[in-house]
Parts: sequence; C-alpha cells; structure tokens
Amino acid sequence: MANEDTAFEPSYEVAIIGAGFSGSLTAIHLLAAPEGGGTPPATIALVEKEVSAFGRGVAYGTPCARHLLNVPAGKMGAFPDRPDDFLRWLHAHPEATAEFGLGEIDAGTFAPRMLYGKYVASLLDEAAARAGGRLRRIAGEAVDVAPADLPEGSGAWRVELADGRRLRAGRVVLALGTFPPGDPRLRDSRFHRSPRYLYSPWSAETHERLAAPGDALILGSGLTCLDLLLTLQNHKRAGVLHVVSRHGLFPQPHRAGLAPWPAFLNAGELPRTVRALLRIVREQTRQAQAQGSDWRAVIDALRPFTQEFWQGLSRAERRRFLRHLRARWEPHRHRAAPEVLAAKEELERAGALVCHRGRIERITEVEGGSALEVVLQPHGRAGQRETLRVSHVVNCTGPECNYHRLGDPLITGLFSRGLARPDALMLGLDVAPDGALRDVGGVASRRLFTLGSPQKGRLLETTAVPELRCQARDLAARLYRQEEDDLTPDALAEAAAASSSEEGFAFEI
Ligand SMILES: Cc1cc2nc3c(=O)[nH]c(=O)nc-3n(C[C@H](O)[C@H](O)[C@H](O)COP(=O)(O)OP(=O)(O)OC[C@H]3O[C@@H](n4cnc5c(N)ncnc54)[C@H](O)[C@@H]3O)c2cc1C
Repeated sequence: MANEDTAFEPSYEVAIIGAGFSGSLTAIHLLAAPEGGGTPPATIALVEKEVSAFGRGVAYGTPCARHLLNVPAGKMGAFPDRPDDFLRWLHAHPEATAEFGLGEIDAGTFAPRMLYGKYVASLLDEAAARAGGRLRRIAGEAVDVAPADLPEGSGAWRVELADGRRLRAGRVVLALGTFPPGDPRLRDSRFHRSPRYLYSPWSAETHERLAAPGDALILGSGLTCLDLLLTLQNHKRAGVLHVVSRHGLFPQPHRAGLAPWPAFLNAGELPRTVRALLRIVREQTRQAQAQGSDWRAVIDALRPFTQEFWQGLSRAERRRFLRHLRARWEPHRHRAAPEVLAAKEELERAGALVCHRGRIERITEVEGGSALEVVLQPHGRAGQRETLRVSHVVNCTGPECNYHRLGDPLITGLFSRGLARPDALMLGLDVAPDGALRDVGGVASRRLFTLGSPQKGRLLETTAVPELRCQARDLAARLYRQEEDDLTPDALAEAAAASSSEEGFAFEI
C-alpha cells in the first residue's frame, strides 16, 4: 500500500480493458499514425487480468497445440486491408511453424490457435516498441469504471483494479470478450454447488478432473465442446465422454477448395424477414449444388450482408431468428477444421464418446456426493427417459449473453451507476453505431466504448477476426483526439495531481 508521498493515480488518454484480439488491435491502431486526421493518444493503458493473455485473449491463449483456428490462415490477417498478413507472418517465421510440426502452409491451412496468439502478441510488441513508451501494459482485473471526481464534469474515468490500484483515463474501451457459460437452468439447481459440476470449460483444473478415470458429461456440442474433446483425447485415462445438446448438432466441417459464390444480395435491398432470406438461401444452395459447390459457399457469400440484414429486421423477426434458426445457423456459419471433426469421429468409433440429442431434466448428486445422476429426455421419444451416472458434468453451452446474470463486478457496477444497459434482446450491451455504450436512458457516451461480443445485439456477427479487425480499426479512428477535445494529457495529469491527496495506492506493475 502507498504512503502519502507515493499515492497517486496515473492517467492515460485511453484505457483499454481486455488485451485479447480486440483490445490489442485497438491499441495497435492507436499507436500508429492515424490515416484520417486527429491526434493519436499520447498515453494508452492496456489492462488485462490474465498476465499470459496479452495479445492472445481466451481463444489464442490456449495451452493446447491441438486447438486449431476455425478460419483458414489466409483469412486471419489482423488488418482489414491485409487479410493475408497472418499467412505472410507464418511464411516469415519458419522457426515458429516448425515448433508445431507444420509442413507446407498455404491459405487453406488451419493453424494452431497458439501460433495465432504468437502472431498477435508479436504485433503488439512491435507496435509498443515503435511507439516508445506510449503504451503501458497493466496486469490486473478492472472491477470498476466510474466517473472521476476531478476535473468536475470533465467526463474523465477512474478505473479501479481488483487489488485496489486505480488509474484515470479520458476514454475507456471495454474489450472484454465473452463471459463463461451461464449455469443450466433446471428446476432443482442444487447441483450448481456440487464440486462435480465444472462450470469453467477452459480452466486447467477442469481438464485435470475430466482426465481422471470415470465417465463425464459435456453439456453443449459447439466449438468449446470440440476443444475439450481434443484436449482430452490423449489425456483421459479411462471412461466414456457423453455429450448432450438439444439439437444434437456439432459445428460442420469446412470443405477445402470451394470457389467463392457470387454475391446474391444487394445492400440496401435486403429481405426484411427471416423466412424471405431462408427462401433465397435455399434456392442459391440448390444452384450451388448443381454446380458442384455447396451451402458453405452460399453461407459465406452472406457474410458481408449479415449485419445489415440483422439491423433491418424488426425486433419480432430477430426474436424469430433466435428462437427458430440460431441453433442451425451457428454450426453452419461457425465451422470447424476437418481435422478437428475427424478427431471427434475417431473418439466415437473407439466408443470413448457417445452423443445424445435431448433435453436435461435433472442432475443430482448420488452415492454420497461421489457421482452425479443425469436424467435426460431423448429427442423424439416422448415420455421416455435416459439416465447417465457420471463423475463430472462440464458446462460447454456457450457464453452467457444476458449481462444481468453475469455477476461480473465491472458490468454490475456499470449497470448500477446507470452507465450501461443491456440491448433489447439481451445478447450483450446496448451500443451506438460507433461502439459507444448507451446509458440507462439510452444516451450514447462520448467516452466509454466497447467492441466485439458485447455488440452482438446490434450486429449479430461480431465475434470472429474478420469482423473484429474492422471494429478495432474504426474504433481507434474514433478515439484519435480531435481538436475540440478538452481531455488532453496535461488536463488529465492536472486532475490526477489535484486528487493525489485522496486515498490511493502506489502504482506498480
Ligand atoms: C475457443 C475459441 C476459438 C475461436 N477460434 C476462432 C478462430 O479460429 N477464428 C476467429 O476468427 N475467431 C475465433 N474465435 C472467436 C474469438 O473469440 C475472436 O477471434 C477473438 O479472439 C475475440 O477477442 P476479444 O479480444 O474480443 O475477446 P477475448 O479473446 O476473450 O479477450 C478478452 C480479454 O479481456 C480480458 N478481460 C475480461 N474482463 C476483464 C477485466 N475486468 N479486467 C481485465 N481484463 C479483462 C480477458 O482476460 C481476455 O483476455 C474463437 C473463440 C473461441 C472462444
């Protein structure tokens, strides 16, 4: 803790919370010379709660070399105007690719996600080195963002970290990524407290416990489930893995060599209902198949229009999509590398994996807490029940999007201060087109922004690199200081000095 002489709050023009792909790329753009005018911020703080996650985040910080990108290398460049930048980086770093035993690499290669993390982290390091001390990387969890008291009404923020350190910032960017899955809602929720219920699919402890002998149940059959199967394939010592999901759908495999399908929609004239779009997609798929292509090329051709289509739908239509189509859209749109699905099939053939389609009715601790009994209603077999006895249940149902249910201190604080509100569909936060958070009254902030997953309600498609790289570039352009800005580095420093007699903590990283 600080004594009075050292108590101060360092100030930055911009503080970015979260140093995964979104936060890191926003920082990289802010450190570069702006193309479209404005002055880049002189001081930037990049705050990250996991020390190893700078430049990597959750997806690319995986310690498992078998976890592959689900987008081919040729499309994973970090910059919108250079989609092949990652591929070039791979070719320029044979030592890094050799480490992973990769042979010939081309645009269609599904590279290990760890390697992609290395790429983004190296971009961040290079940008920071070039910018000569303008970027400060701060390891710590931000638990509160609140208006700073001084200068009064200035709009500056005070960011508080979990260990009590504080910093001050003229603008704040929330680059928080996704949150862990919400607990499954069953009538009897006591199992949520069972040590045999593993709610965090990413943690090393979860992997260790699942690797121990004994059957286990994975809830959800999406990309997270596939990750877990790969992690466990060579580590699980004995026992069967069960997977249960409502629709029984796994991500579909990519297919190599498909030529791009020509655009069949026109911006500004998009269908206004889900049904109308479906009709067009079915017809295009028929044509694609007749020409030796398939639905994948058709779905990919939708991508440039998805956000505009979503925004053109009424709220009722959006709900209709979520209720009836989302479960089918996700596995077709967010596909996996063929190698990954081959590994899943190998597990099935070996009898180490059993997939169920159905709905969980009940999960209870049995045998004095040494096992969990799971009762499920299999799909299409009305009135029947299946019972599984497993040592663990792990939640891979996908990130919780209803921010009211999160219990995250930062989000809870923003809500209780009225600085943010969820979007109407409860898919994320309510944001203006430039990523500014809307407060409880719907007014867009001039100094608090977000990008990536929290924008799902507004954009639907906002989680993969091809979308995030554009958002990071555009948000950075928005954050370059404009002439009329009052929160210059000097003004912020003055504010910090004026408040240095307040209680504070020494700032050490
Ligand atoms: C398993 C998986 C595989 C994926 N594969 C691909 C792929 O192949 N291709 C693709 O395009 N996309 C993929 N994605 C989508 C992926 O999420 C994005 O590409 C991208 O990594 C998201 O980056 P982000 O920075 O928005 O979020 P994240 O990577 O989640 O980063 C957010 C960061 O914020 C930090 N943080 C959160 N709260 C706080 C706080 N309060 N204080 C401090 N730090 C905080 C977190 O620790 C984290 O490091 C994948 C996603 C997952 C989960």
